[in-house]
Amino acid sequence: MLKNIYVTQPSLPPYEEYIEAIKPLWDSKIITNMGKYHSQLELELANYLDVPEISLMVNGHMGLEMVIRSFEFPDGSEVITSPFTFISTTHAIIRNRLKPVFCDVKANDGTIDESKIENLISSKTVAIIPVHVYGNICNTLEIQRIADKYGLKVIYDAAHAFGIKYNGIGIGYYGDSSVFSFHATKVFNTVEGGAVVCKDHSLYEKLYNLKNFGIQNEESVVAVGANAKMNEFSAIMGLCNLKHINVSISSRKEIYNAYINELYSVNGITVLNRCGEYYSNYAYMPIVVNDMYGLTRDEIYAKLKYNGIYSRKYFYPLTSDQLCFNNKYKNASLEVARELSKRVLVLPLYEGLTIDDVTRITNIIKEK
Ligand SMILES: *Cc1c(COP(=O)(O)O)cnc(C)c1O
Repeated sequence: MLKNIYVTQPSLPPYEEYIEAIKPLWDSKIITNMGKYHSQLELELANYLDVPEISLMVNGHMGLEMVIRSFEFPDGSEVITSPFTFISTTHAIIRNRLKPVFCDVKANDGTIDESKIENLISSKTVAIIPVHVYGNICNTLEIQRIADKYGLKVIYDAAHAFGIKYNGIGIGYYGDSSVFSFHATKVFNTVEGGAVVCKDHSLYEKLYNLKNFGIQNEESVVAVGANAKMNEFSAIMGLCNLKHINVSISSRKEIYNAYINELYSVNGITVLNRCGEYYSNYAYMPIVVNDMYGLTRDEIYAKLKYNGIYSRKYFYPLTSDQLCFNNKYKNASLEVARELSKRVLVLPLYEGLTIDDVTRITNIIKEK
């Protein structure tokens, strides 16, 4: 009986290493509220990600909510964003009382179609929130040109883009801010966690405040903040995982390359990511199933599942088409995104996956 293979598995440090690292917490009794390890992780991550300012968060979603909140946009303002993403991106906009305006994506990589952004801008538009989906980097140059022309903020959902260097600089340098997720399923994890990065120190200070109830000192609360702080156990998990991140990314790269070797000759299957065009993190293995292949995306999904392989229909449906929105956005012009979301399938890719596992998976895709 072959073992089941799931779409992802967390990277964990050696057990003893983590246990050793958390011991000091039993002496200090400081286990949260921006302790020593929180500061140390901010320092090490700013260095690794090559960004000037970084504010750790309890998770990526609250990072998005906090940074959107920090700009104090008027209620009802419009934000141009991608529907081809995890639901968090859209929820973070709506939970800030802003209106998402969904822009179509490009078929070759799933990122926002920059040529369709300008048409969606109105007098109420305040920001663009694009997504570096699967670690595919958006057209940052054109997005910045548009943002500058119309005076808009740019906040990247960089949940998939940990450690990527684009044009030789850390991906977090682009736009006004970027948000990373350190969820267990991501390339780098702190169990649950995330971070907002930026260049502006005053934004860092605002976030520090917003993630801690708006408390300035013992007696003064100066903003209506939330509780979005990262605790010390998570920060230590991050410090441990960061020691192994380069090994972790290179094993992902080997697995990714093995997939490419097996799949490049399969008629009707294309790979939807651009790893290799710049320093990438090999976070995901998304494929697109075209008519030529013979089976539909849902048929491959079912066939893999029958064989104990659990792939995922990321991202299907589009966030704009989710039940909670009651068809509110059904008239949005999202032809490419809708077609892509019906054809895309994310195959298992994680540090512990073996080349034999890849062969087992790709053999199922190849045999028809
Ligand atoms: C994972 C993810 C998030 C949310 O991050 P959490 O850390 O799980 O809160 C946001 N956007 C995208 C695209 C994600 O994949």
